[in-house]
This record gives sequence, structure tokens and C-alpha cells, in this order.
Amino acid sequence: MQTAKERPSGAASPSHSMSDDLLALLGGVDPQVSQILAGERERQESTLELIASENHVSAAVMHAAGSWMTNKYAEGYPGKRYYGGCEFHDQAEELARNRAKQLFGCAYANVQPHCGANANIAAFMALMNPGDTVLSLPIKSGGHLSHGLKVNFSGTFYKVADYSLDPSTELLDYDEIERIARECQPKLIICGYSAYSRTIDFARFRAIADTVGALLMADIAHIAGLCATGVHPSPFPFAHVVTTTTHKTLRGPRGGMVMTNDEELATKVDRKVFPGSQGGPLMHIIAAKAVAFGEALRPEFTSYCQQVVKNAKALAAELQSRGYRLCAGGTDNHLMLVDLRARNADLTGADAEKWLERSGIICNKNGIPNDPRPPMVTSGLRLGTPALTTRGLREPQMTRVATWLDEVMGSKGDASTSARVRGEIKEFCRDFPLPH
Ligand SMILES: *Cc1c(COP(=O)(O)O)cnc(C)c1O
Repeated sequence: MQTAKERPSGAASPSHSMSDDLLALLGGVDPQVSQILAGERERQESTLELIASENHVSAAVMHAAGSWMTNKYAEGYPGKRYYGGCEFHDQAEELARNRAKQLFGCAYANVQPHCGANANIAAFMALMNPGDTVLSLPIKSGGHLSHGLKVNFSGTFYKVADYSLDPSTELLDYDEIERIARECQPKLIICGYSAYSRTIDFARFRAIADTVGALLMADIAHIAGLCATGVHPSPFPFAHVVTTTTHKTLRGPRGGMVMTNDEELATKVDRKVFPGSQGGPLMHIIAAKAVAFGEALRPEFTSYCQQVVKNAKALAAELQSRGYRLCAGGTDNHLMLVDLRARNADLTGADAEKWLERSGIICNKNGIPNDPRPPMVTSGLRLGTPALTTRGLREPQMTRVATWLDEVMGSKGDASTSARVRGEIKEFCRDFPLPH
């Protein structure tokens, strides 16, 4: 890397970074894209990111993802490639795999899936034949579309049986899941969700799977960082296969991964990732995964994950004290599902999302269990703390965030309230810069 002295433009400042270099370079080559990227950086800098599945990666991860590694075809696996010139690609992939194994305490990792949904496609293909039965939590109850939604790959090629949450507690009801498993005799049971705020009992899931001779897949896309650091119990040694994204609480580049302790399953998974469902791996992303896993192995990342949960609990408590109802009664992890009706019967997730966005708070509407409103309206908001925690917000700031949330939602979309909050948040964000 050039030092400030060597840089010909002389534009160096104490805060000068590779990101500034990128924008300057692009500005000369493609001003339109340069402007778009600058706008997005400014948007992230000046708003509060409460989408539970998002995070802000380090500059090291971001720039590894934008490196020379993007130029290479590396179909195959380390030592067994279909193209020459893979010396450093083998090293990057080995490093990513080894760090993943160390991080999650497992024997095999495939770091090639392009995203979480692709990891699940490969896992389904490795664990089942088309037409076999998978038992999962449907998306309307907090599951993911790749777990069996009709219009998705999973619901198209496999038979899908549903379990749901206990309607009164909104918690997983393991006795009921066992009853349904005995009835439908699935080949595969899936646990791990997109909008479930409580701890998952992986041991109990494995016991259920064993009772009916099923395999257990844990999709830890949301809680991967928490599992890696012991802030949420690990799916190992209980799950036969673990799938995840790398870009949520794990704070890596956008991507997926499949892990297992079983050699035979590992071989099947490798074949189903490539050539089964993907072509050339995204080697730039795999290099960035290696960087992110290296970061996650450091003690600071454990403190970060602990703080993510402390922040979620603080935000949850403040919202509850202001009259909001939280599904499942609160949170054990990085997210919460807010039932807006308790605060105001007319408030919808769609309105709240829109009003909050123009106030500088980014989040998503989300159906709550048994939501009477349709998916494009909803009665809930999903809020998460991974991104805010990366910026350095702690419990006292969570109270502030809850106050803003309540002011905007309580104002029923009043434009002057949104404008005032927008200004306050812009100012506030200056004290919590993005990683750079
Ligand atoms: C986010 C998520 C995925 C999919 O991730 P993509 O990278 O968007 O494909 C899979 N499973 C669960 C439970 C998720 O929350």
C-alpha cells in the first residue's frame, strides 16, 4: 500500500483511507458509479442500521473482497482444480476452511457457497433425494424461504412438513415438533431461523431426529457469530450438517458455508456445491471470508458478540417499558420481533418501516406469529443490534435509539417529528464512525 507521502495527489488527511482512494479512482473512470458508492457510504454513515441480518464489515474484509482474487477461475477444490494458476487460491481457500473449522469446532467446512440460500441448496442435495420429506418452520413463523417455501427450490423439489411455534408462548414447542416428526417421518429436520429471538436447544432437536431416524440440519445464518463465540450454544456436535451465511453476526463478506463432522457427508456436500449447484467459486469472497474468520478468532470478537446481546436486551427492555410487546417475551440473541399493536392497534409494520426510514432508522417490517395482516403490511418490526454494536453503541445508546423509535412511531408519521429525529441521528452518528 502507498503511504500518504508517496501518494501523488497529495490529498492525504488523517482520516484518509483505501475507501477514499477507491472513490477517487472510480471518480476518474466512472463518475456515475463513484457517486452511487459515495451515496451509499454516506447513507450508512448517517443512519442507524437495525436490520438484524446486516452488519458493517472491517476495511480489511471489504478490500479483500475487492481484490485481485476476483480475476481467477478456480473450479474444484484446493489441490484439485480445473484451471492452472491456482497456487494462491488454494492457499486462501485452505486458510478460510481451517479458520472456519477452528472457529466452529468442526472437522469439515466448505467455504464456496455464494450465499446462505446456496449453502442450503447444496445441503439439501447432499442429505436428501428429490421428493423426500423435510420438516421445518415456515417463513411466516420465522423460518427462511430456503427451508421449504413453495415458490423456492426447497418447496419445489422436496415434500415439506411444517412445525410451528407454541401459539401462547411463541416459543419452539419441542414435544409438538417430536409429535409431528413421528407423524411425517422426515428425512431431514431443520432448525435455525431468520426471526426467532430465543435460544435453540440443538441437543433436543438431535434427540427428536434420532427418534425418527432423520438427519438434523442447523441453519445458523443469523446467529453464526454468537455460536462461534459461545454466546449462543453451538450446533456441534448435535447437527449432522450446519449451514450459515458469513455476512450477518459473523461480520464477513456476503456469502455462505456448509460444515459437518462427518467425512462421508463432507464428501457429498463438496460434490453438491461443485459441480452440483455452482460453477467457479468467488475467490475474492473466499479471501475475505478468511480475513473475517481470522478477525472472529480474536478475543475482541467475543466481546463484540457479548455486547450485541447486551444491546439487544437493553433495546428490548426499553421498548417494553414504552408499551411495545415483544414476541416470545424478549430476546436471548441479537434480534427481537416487536408486535406494534400493543402500543397502537392501528400501527402496521409497513407504515413504521417507512416512517423510520425517513427519520434515519433502517429496519424491516416482519410478520409476527399468526399475524392477521398480509406479508406486505404486517403487524411487526424485526430489530437487530449487530450493525449498531459494530459502530460502538452500547446500552446507554440503546435507550436513546428506543426513544427515537417510539417518537417516530408514536407521531403517526408526522413529517416534522421525522425531520427532527433525522437531524438528531445525523449528528449522533458522527460519534460512531463506520469501520474504516
Ligand atoms: C439469511 C438467511 C439465509 C440466506 O441467506 P442469503 O445469503 O440471503 O441467501 C438462510 N437461512 C437463514 C435462516 C437466514 O436467515
